[in-house]
Amino acid sequence: MMRVLLLGGTGDALQIARQFGPEHVYSLAGLGKVPEDLSCVVRVGGFGGSEGTARYIEDERIGLVIDATHPYAAQISANAAQASRAARVPCWALRRRGWQPQSGDDWRMVDDWAELTQILAAFRRPLFTLGREPLAHLDEIPPHQCWTVRCLDPHEGNARARILATRGPFTLEGERALFGTEAFDVVVSKNSGGSATEAKLEVARERGLPVVMLRRPELPAVDREFEHVADLLDALQALP
Ligand code: NAP
Repeated sequence: MMRVLLLGGTGDALQIARQFGPEHVYSLAGLGKVPEDLSCVVRVGGFGGSEGTARYIEDERIGLVIDATHPYAAQISANAAQASRAARVPCWALRRRGWQPQSGDDWRMVDDWAELTQILAAFRRPLFTLGREPLAHLDEIPPHQCWTVRCLDPHEGNARARILATRGPFTLEGERALFGTEAFDVVVSKNSGGSATEAKLEVARERGLPVVMLRRPELPAVDREFEHVADLLDALQALP
């Protein structure tokens, strides 16, 4: 089979990488844990934009690029699509379906941090589940608010911000307990999709809490798009 460059940093990508033999490459940005038990090559760090990515594809004789990065990692997805075109190799993408609001849900859609803070002004105890972005704004917390920020990065927080450095999956029971103890009045989320971090939405629904949802970024067109890991693996198996 042709040599595959898999762009990852997600649980789904790791699932794919686990099926790869030593001829293939799994690439990570270097922000999270680097798996040490894979049979394929694992490379860590940026390529240097789309030009660097195209150079890597050519130098390493890659025949197929698979973008299995997070739906909000828009820069690497754009680079992957552009570099694949430049290097004349196909680009596939795993694009997990977003969560859909259910009857009775109160989702407030926002495009960026400025819009998000405007909506949040009406609340006192937000739970942020957006990754590290809120950490850059801990000095801007309005006096009437106490934040809880759940993200991968440990951080000391401050008098009005508690940081929960933890990694999913999160269970329904665990989320119920956390929401009960902390009395959040709003949840802030990306629309990541998948089941690993979905329980917070169910608990928000149970408690009648609004969810401020950051809209998904536009992602580039690719040669083939898959919603499920299994379908992508089947398509790989079917390659000559
Ligand atoms: P991003 O803004 O789209 O990418 C920023 C730069 O990081 C890229 O231009 C590239 O550098 C490098 N990069 C990103 N992913 C890479 C990969 N798999 N292999 C090699 N280089 C990579 O990405 P981000 O939002 O910061 O996310 C970084 C990584 O974390 C992604 O791999 C993503 O799958 C994972 N992640 C992101 C989120 C999220 O909410 N954004 C959530 C969970 C996991 P160069 O331009 O130098 O090539």
